[in-house]
Amino acid sequence: MKQSDVIVIGGGHAGTEAAAAAARLGRRVILITMSKNDIGTMSCNPAIGGLGKGHLVREIDALDGLMGRLADAAGIQFRLLNRRKGAAVQGPRTQADRSKYRNAAMSAIQSYQNLEIIYGEVTELIVRGPRVSGVRLATGEEIVSKAVILTTGTFLNGTIHIGDVQKPAGRYGDKNSSRLAAFIHHLGVPLGRLKTGTPPRLSGRTIDWDILQRQAADDSPEMLSFLSDRPALPQISCGITHTNLTTHGIIQKNISRSAMYGGHIEGRGPRYCPSIEDKIHRFSDKDSHQIFLEPEGLESDVIYPNGISTSLPVDVQVNYVQSIIGLESAKILQPGYAVEYDYVDPRNLLPTLQLAEVEGLYLAGQINGTTGYEEAGAQGLVAGVNASLEEPVIFSRTDSYIGVMIDDLTTRGATEPYRMFTSRAEYRLSLRADNADQRLTAMGRNVGLVQDMRWRSYLEKMNELNAAENWLRSEKYSGNALQVLDRPIGRDGRKRSAYELLSEKNIEISDIKALDNTMPAWSEAVQKQVKINATYAQYEERQRREAEALKKDEGVLLDRNTKYSDIPGLSGELREKLSLRRPNTIAAAARIEGMTPAALSLLVALSRKKSSNG
Ligand code: FAD
Repeated sequence: MKQSDVIVIGGGHAGTEAAAAAARLGRRVILITMSKNDIGTMSCNPAIGGLGKGHLVREIDALDGLMGRLADAAGIQFRLLNRRKGAAVQGPRTQADRSKYRNAAMSAIQSYQNLEIIYGEVTELIVRGPRVSGVRLATGEEIVSKAVILTTGTFLNGTIHIGDVQKPAGRYGDKNSSRLAAFIHHLGVPLGRLKTGTPPRLSGRTIDWDILQRQAADDSPEMLSFLSDRPALPQISCGITHTNLTTHGIIQKNISRSAMYGGHIEGRGPRYCPSIEDKIHRFSDKDSHQIFLEPEGLESDVIYPNGISTSLPVDVQVNYVQSIIGLESAKILQPGYAVEYDYVDPRNLLPTLQLAEVEGLYLAGQINGTTGYEEAGAQGLVAGVNASLEEPVIFSRTDSYIGVMIDDLTTRGATEPYRMFTSRAEYRLSLRADNADQRLTAMGRNVGLVQDMRWRSYLEKMNELNAAENWLRSEKYSGNALQVLDRPIGRDGRKRSAYELLSEKNIEISDIKALDNTMPAWSEAVQKQVKINATYAQYEERQRREAEALKKDEGVLLDRNTKYSDIPGLSGELREKLSLRRPNTIAAAARIEGMTPAALSLLVALSRKKSSNG
């Protein structure tokens, strides 16, 4: 019988990061996925990153994960979203060449000697007592393992919908995973139903590009990985067009024929990524919606029309697509569809992403109620580390978007597909995409996740950055000296350090050089970083104090099996909410609506008593 340390079920974005993380930690890993095409497959839009999502990719990268490097290897249109806003809310993003991304993912996974791929379907988990001890495949073969990570995406009881036509499938053209879903249901794990959708794919040859507005890649591309300095592939532009009143009329007339509005779907969809029929229904005052026409690759004829996902019947899709400027003769290569699938209520997970009730069984990705490659990849990495190590590795809301996401999921659950936004992070001024390495790489190295090549590159950067910051902090200038700059600074007579000056909006590194020609030469990357760090230093100090208090609360663990009904002094309402939510930490308990300081003190005392009793 085959044996391994960690089995990963599913070779999507969560699965590949999970398997790669466990492999970096030296575990013997078996990745089982349905087909060869799964690894690195982008089920929906061919793009990585964006607002909030770009932060997650940089964090994965800071921990030596794959996604950032794969995106850089396959990126065909790098754009920094919110470029004009502050660094904290900027999101690096790239459109990706779908097949090159898949190839890059496959070679990355194949590069680990201790990682074996098996193509097949897992139908059961082997659970003995409170522990998982392996999996059973559809062929009957059993594989034994100390830990199992489930990353089955949209496949558990997946059903795709196009109008009133339904078909069991995990995504278009792929069979679903119904036997494993039945097994998980049988385990008593609480499952819910969610849905997501995708637009029709168009043939680029049939689009009238000449009349369309174009959007080019950035002139100075921001890479997704800290290890890359320039795109590997030529950069392309995409097209922009809009829906119009005719399009809206066609959709309105046929809305009851959409799977969603025809009552065929019970699962909730992502509010922030609505289908075109949702947009027209919910925002009926708008007479136009923007569509980005994104090529799926350098040599591909397939175009992804971003903004018109749908579950309308194919004939209606053809009509509404062809009512759009530039798409009058557009041919649909693959219809848009919605997919409905089972997910596990993530409130049943520990912050390590282990299912609380089954030792050694970890869950990551869409199965936990999230949507998106980046959210999936980040969870995969967390599950991969924790499935590999004895000591739990917990991410905090104060150190990462990864921590924010896991805390949101495990404490609040997901009633609609969860996606990341910068607004979800209360410490977003310090949790920036640009400083993900400064926040996480050393921690990653400590637990063994970060390999030598990245560690050396990180140390080199940090040596230069620290030297630059030290120099800038040590040089001080009087109001008189500052007159050279001809800016309204320093007129109060107080001396300022160069670092303090840099925190001003209208002062750049070139100004410091003009002020003081003894300034050493630093690389462009370090000059850029030092300016951002200086800008945010003043806010970070305040956030750091708040974050420290929260971190302390996150460190006070609560026993999930606590019988809140037996605790005197708690109100009936709080007993009920605590029993339902079963918070893992005092910080999570504090976020329960209606929680009082007195009740929190009681919980802290209870936790202390429990830990002193062992
Ligand atoms: P997946 O990438 O789905 O991978 C799951 C893998 O598990 C598959 O490779 C499958 O073969 C394998 N698997 C399943 N069951 C078994 C089994 N029993 N045995 C072995 N292998 C198994 N994201 C967005 O951000 N925005 C969107 O608008 C969006 N729309 C989407 C629309 C559709 C129709 C689909 C299908 C997905 C959409 N996504 C969207 C979601 C995005 O594709 C997922 O969030 C992401 O791929 C999830 O990654 P994952 O690793 O959890 O799962």
